[in-house]
Amino acid sequence: MRGKMMSTPLTITEIMLYATRLYHDTEVISITSDEGVHRSTYKNVFERANQVAHALRRLGVKPGDRIATLAWNDHRHLELYYGVSCSGLVLHTVNPRLFSEQLAYIFSHANDQVIFFDPMFLPLLEGLADELSSVKAFVALTSKEKMPESSSLDIYCYEELLAQDDSPFSWPELEETTASALCYTSGTTGNPKGVLYDHRSTVLHAYGSCMAGVLGLSHNDVVMPVVPMFHVNAWGTPYSCPIAGSKIVLPGPKMGDGETLHSLIENEGVTIALGVPTVWLALLAYLKDTGKTIGTLNRTVVGGSACPISIMEEFEKLHGVYTHHAWGMTEMSPLGTVNTLIPSMDKLEESDRNKVRAKQGRAPFGVDMKIVDDEGKDLPHDGVAFGDLKVRGWWVADAYYGEDDNSETHDQEGWFSTGDVATIDQQGFLNITDRTKDVIKSGGEWISSIELENIAVAHPDVAEAAVIGIDDEKWGERPHLIVVCVEGADPVQGSILSSFKGKVADWWIPDSMNIVDSIPHTATGKISKATLREQHSKGLFE
Ligand code: AMP
Repeated sequence: MRGKMMSTPLTITEIMLYATRLYHDTEVISITSDEGVHRSTYKNVFERANQVAHALRRLGVKPGDRIATLAWNDHRHLELYYGVSCSGLVLHTVNPRLFSEQLAYIFSHANDQVIFFDPMFLPLLEGLADELSSVKAFVALTSKEKMPESSSLDIYCYEELLAQDDSPFSWPELEETTASALCYTSGTTGNPKGVLYDHRSTVLHAYGSCMAGVLGLSHNDVVMPVVPMFHVNAWGTPYSCPIAGSKIVLPGPKMGDGETLHSLIENEGVTIALGVPTVWLALLAYLKDTGKTIGTLNRTVVGGSACPISIMEEFEKLHGVYTHHAWGMTEMSPLGTVNTLIPSMDKLEESDRNKVRAKQGRAPFGVDMKIVDDEGKDLPHDGVAFGDLKVRGWWVADAYYGEDDNSETHDQEGWFSTGDVATIDQQGFLNITDRTKDVIKSGGEWISSIELENIAVAHPDVAEAAVIGIDDEKWGERPHLIVVCVEGADPVQGSILSSFKGKVADWWIPDSMNIVDSIPHTATGKISKATLREQHSKGLFE
């Protein structure tokens, strides 16, 4: 028997209409590259989303066409998030930090029809001009007065395009499985792969992430996503904030700048901020150097790479800010887990609590996880066994964009292989130990590079650390530590290596290390271990 309830489709349009009704006055603050701090409201943003939809129709695009953005976190990008997706088009957010070959591949693979770009990225687009044959319009995200000049591209002005029609747009009634957005993952090998989100997955992800045990957002919150809107939808905050009615503060091109982050927190009353560990290192260093405080900030959510407990402790002890460790990936929209302690953990000793808090947390309702061995057999959730992490759920990709065959990444029951290696404990807390391709196997046993890196960065002289496996005649592989020191520090290697003693089994302790000036990162800010292994094998650290 079928139920007798309404089956209103879950669409991003509903988020826009809801926030327009209930949170029209709620502020949207952004730093823009052309006009500094910009103050707006959800009402303004969504009105202008109507204008975006009109403009796209005039540019002659068809439902389902991909519309690319090369843009920072600001109000114009937010307008595009809604104006594009709600008019039945696909918002293709592009990461400007990718190599130009990857960008050319992505634009061509997505067959983008229009590119909206921050004027800062004009030189980048001009360099790719010959390879952008599908693109029929380039739109600079700025006003007439600030329009950049280009000798090789014809460019439209965003503000002029929007000004042409400010009547309400008649939003189409979309099926909830209509594609809404596209984001490419930057794999270390092979071409990037596109993850094609739909309205349903986006709404469910945003809905789920607002829950109390997840991000716990409400209209009392002021949310600052320091995670880019050009990569995995700034962890869904452009959708979850309007649902929760949270004020949103968008740091534009100033995401890694401690001074800007501090002034946004103080001036706008930010209560929760989200970002990768390096962003918080920049803010904490700025606070340390200046002696400034961040009075309103209650919580940070840290993910994208493992968050060392030292960051959590500094936030909590010096600034009264609680840190939630989180894990996810492009293929998961991205939220996979968030670390929120459960009541039985209230009475734990600080060191035991820290052990739990260093884990990546628990899956929200809507995400299912398991770990398997090399033969694909389920492993116990006992916090000890570790294996390949697989996931399933409402906001997990079923296949990559343009690929029908998903057999390389999904098993027959539909579980997606994340490429991460992890343990899951009895309470469901996930602990990522490595990427599958970075796993170190010594004498047939796995060593967690993430655990070793977390110990290394707790050393006062260490700013950043990476552990890679290097060939060893006797053991197959042994862990090798590479560190960047904090400015002015000149530690002896022995003092860093001896800091592992007693914290892990002796055979896990790296036998060798290098101190380097900088560690290479991928376009999404993760340590590029493939590059480090290559550099090490070529003897570049000697
Ligand atoms: P991306 O698709 O670029 O967001 O990258 C996803 C990958 O980042 C995951 O598969 C993990 O390998 C890594 N990652 C994300 N969050 C964490 C975390 N908290 N700890 C360790 N690795 C993480």
